[in-house]
Amino acid sequence: MEARGVMGALPVFRWRLAPDGYATRRQLRARGLRPGGQDVAAQLERPRRRRGPLVAYLYRVEKAKPVRPMTPAKWAALAKANAARRTCPTCGRDAGYVIPTSLGMCVTCAYPNECAA
Ligand SMILES: [Zn+2]
Repeated sequence: MEARGVMGALPVFRWRLAPDGYATRRQLRARGLRPGGQDVAAQLERPRRRRGPLVAYLYRVEKAKPVRPMTPAKWAALAKANAARRTCPTCGRDAGYVIPTSLGMCVTCAYPNECAA
């Protein structure tokens, strides 16, 4: 089914009656997709009392692109940031977990007696 707008007007579908091949930005995201620069292809409208209709914009699934994958550099930066968050500023060791900001140090440093026992 091909919906065609007139003079640039977007085809409007009733809420929950979106045809196959269209998805909202959120629905694309759930599939690991993004609109990828395409224009809004259609819109859904849900009538509301006394107010304007609730509108959701639809994109063509076939024109959607995969969400940008992480590059090795991004992974490296993320790993570095995570390692920094796991490193205890007191003993300088990788605690193996994110240092709790409430303690400001690893649990071993915060409670030396309990850990030694
Ligand atoms: Zn420590």
